[in-house]
Amino acid sequence: MATFKAIRIDKADKGTTATLAQFDEAELMDGDVTVRVEWSTLNYKDGLALTGKAPVVRRFPMIAGIDFAGTVEASSHPAWKPGDKVVCTGWGMGETHLGAYAEKARVKGDWLVALPQGLSSRDAMAIGTAGFTAMLSVLALEKNGLSPKSGPVVVTGAAGGVGSVATAVLSKLGYHVIASTGRVSEADYLKEIGAAEVIDRNELSAPAKPLAKERWAGGVDSVGSTTLANLLSMTKYGGAIAACGLAAGMDLPSSVAPFILRGVCLLGIDSVMCPIELRKAAWQRLASDLDRTKLSEITHEIPLAEVPEWGAKILAGQVRGRIVVKIV
Ligand code: NDP
Repeated sequence: MATFKAIRIDKADKGTTATLAQFDEAELMDGDVTVRVEWSTLNYKDGLALTGKAPVVRRFPMIAGIDFAGTVEASSHPAWKPGDKVVCTGWGMGETHLGAYAEKARVKGDWLVALPQGLSSRDAMAIGTAGFTAMLSVLALEKNGLSPKSGPVVVTGAAGGVGSVATAVLSKLGYHVIASTGRVSEADYLKEIGAAEVIDRNELSAPAKPLAKERWAGGVDSVGSTTLANLLSMTKYGGAIAACGLAAGMDLPSSVAPFILRGVCLLGIDSVMCPIELRKAAWQRLASDLDRTKLSEITHEIPLAEVPEWGAKILAGQVRGRIVVKIV
């Protein structure tokens, strides 16, 4: 019987457990491509799945991990052959489909994106779902007409994964980036990766006025709740905020004032079911618009065995930037 190493989530008397275990290859789910996974990553959602703090996992046993980069081992899909380097994020991996913290994954060929030229498999997962989501946010803002000439942009949860990549990408594109963080001790880090200004997140966490002084033309928000409400109320006429996260909560205690009096747009960002053509475009842009030196400053590497303990740390806000997971 062939087995492989994986972080396995099981139901327990109270909640769930996450352990490094051997998984039987025969238990892999349906899919037309089998991939030798080389790198994965740790995202906020992985933290929720690993700790069982939110019902992310929908079947048991589950292999945790929502994204991977690796090499195709076997394929009956016309687009892929053994040896191809691929990236896969979302699509329910680690939720309804066996996930990425494993030496092997079997998925639908339609879910895969070819590793873009110029990125290694490790780079792709240093970026991971969080960085991919940051780029989807940038693309949405650009589609809405934002350019560096429009004015400053704000990034919330800036020291986190989405926030760090958004800060680095937007600064490389020439934007004046205002980074909002609860960890002002990370101000030097944020300036190093491209922030022009660092503000304390407390400035954005009180209940929002319907309209406040116009401070930015656009923004990437990974925090939600009153933070997003404040962002909207402080957005310049005709500007837009890309909402991609809920680190502070799912609610949005806002009013329609920014929309109907300033023509502000709220842009929703989803990485999980994102259509394949948009995925390809986002990965191409990540290959060209993210400085590799900054990516290495953002990234910390851990082995597969340490994934469960880091899952708790990301939820506690103790992770800076991105965590890349070495599978083999
Ligand atoms: P991280 O934990 O790396 O970053 C989140 C950051 O949010 C923290 O580092 C912290 O930044 C800030 N934060 C945490 N708690 C609070 C709080 N209570 N109030 C204000 N700020 C807070 O997570 P990721 O970057 O991986 O993910 C960020 C968010 O984006 C998550 O909610 C995640 O679920 C969501 N997400 C959504 C996706 C989508 O498809 N829409 C895809 C990927 C992620 P700082 O220390 O700088 O204040």
